[in-house]
Amino acid sequence: MNQALFSYIAACPTAFQAAAHTAALLEAEGYRPLRETEEWMLEPGGRYYVTRNGSSLIAFRLPKGRPVGFMMTAAHGDSPTFKIKENAELTGENETRLSVEGYGGMLCASWMDRPLSVAGRAMVRTENGVAMRLIDLHDDLALIPNVAIHMNRDANNGAKYNFAVDMQPLYGEKGGFHRRIAEAAGVAEEDLLTHDLFLYNPQPGVEWGDYISAPRLDDLQCAFAALQGFLTAGESQSAAVYCLFDNEEVGSQTKQGAASTFLRETLERICDALGLTLRTMAAGSFLLSCDNAHAVHPNHPEYADKNHAVRMNGGVVIKYNASQRYTTDAVSAALFQTVCEAAGVPFQRYANRPDMAGGSTLGSIANTQVSLNMADIGLAQLAMHSAFETAGAEDTAHMVQALKTFFGMTLRSGGDGTYQLR
Ligand code: ZN
Repeated sequence: MNQALFSYIAACPTAFQAAAHTAALLEAEGYRPLRETEEWMLEPGGRYYVTRNGSSLIAFRLPKGRPVGFMMTAAHGDSPTFKIKENAELTGENETRLSVEGYGGMLCASWMDRPLSVAGRAMVRTENGVAMRLIDLHDDLALIPNVAIHMNRDANNGAKYNFAVDMQPLYGEKGGFHRRIAEAAGVAEEDLLTHDLFLYNPQPGVEWGDYISAPRLDDLQCAFAALQGFLTAGESQSAAVYCLFDNEEVGSQTKQGAASTFLRETLERICDALGLTLRTMAAGSFLLSCDNAHAVHPNHPEYADKNHAVRMNGGVVIKYNASQRYTTDAVSAALFQTVCEAAGVPFQRYANRPDMAGGSTLGSIANTQVSLNMADIGLAQLAMHSAFETAGAEDTAHMVQALKTFFGMTLRSGGDGTYQLR
């Protein structure tokens, strides 16, 4: 399972490739692409997917009969990195650097002194207008060099990074970056109009003893596990919905992010096509917001809440937060516990130390657009937002099994606080 995860991560250097690669895996399983620019004709038992901006994707599978509700997962396909600016080359006397700015909250130190590659998308001029081309240069092309300890004797006493000075990467060649992107896009340089390009760590994932390490485990480990669960689940009387959102790492407030209309409009279209109303369907629906969680750190156990420290290989994490930055409440936790018990998968409970603010994630943001029962879950990992993250070797399979069981279940809401989940 972890080798398949590493292949998925390697194929998904940015959210654009994550959406495209996931679409290819869905098509191989008989899922048909829909376009937001067209009206949808949907058939009972049908399998479909739709993308927005080429970087977010929603796939769904309809039951043969009238669906009871939506059983959904959401994960994100973007990760913290550096975006390459439009005028990309910083030309020096002896070398070229790339001009970058931060995307999301990365751990800067982990990005230094390692070969980096470039991926994303380019917009090119065509005969009829403009078109999008996916770009993945694959090769080691850039590196952000540290300053030697001899010139910064305080480097081990808490480093400070100025993005404009310290984080600009050295480019392997002297110039020619724009031409290289045009070549990768398959156009003449004058037909390359603009781009959304990012640095990424091309290092392959590794399994070592009880652990796995790889780039972008947050959140491709959940994106992958949810996809496997979605594709392998048995039949249910609910409609299964798999969401992969872009822009979680920068707050989700984009036309394709979790705060956008993408999920609500997709569910509305499904309801319209089947003669249902979303308000009734949503009341009996359930969404699992899947994003990784902080494992108790072996060198810093003091950062974990005493009673809610989660460990790698301990199973799926249910995340709680009184301020509801995590959507989990007693109802959704009880429903997800039922899923884990049916799946035979261990689960553990996470909460931040009350004096430490955690990050926010997809669920609470999506809930403002389409409101329904949600729980926040994930897998325990170390070094979140590092260029190379670490998680438990057994946990990918735990999440796949839990979500496979979840997607195979039918949820019936009594509307009076009673639920049937089987
Ligand atoms: Zn995440």
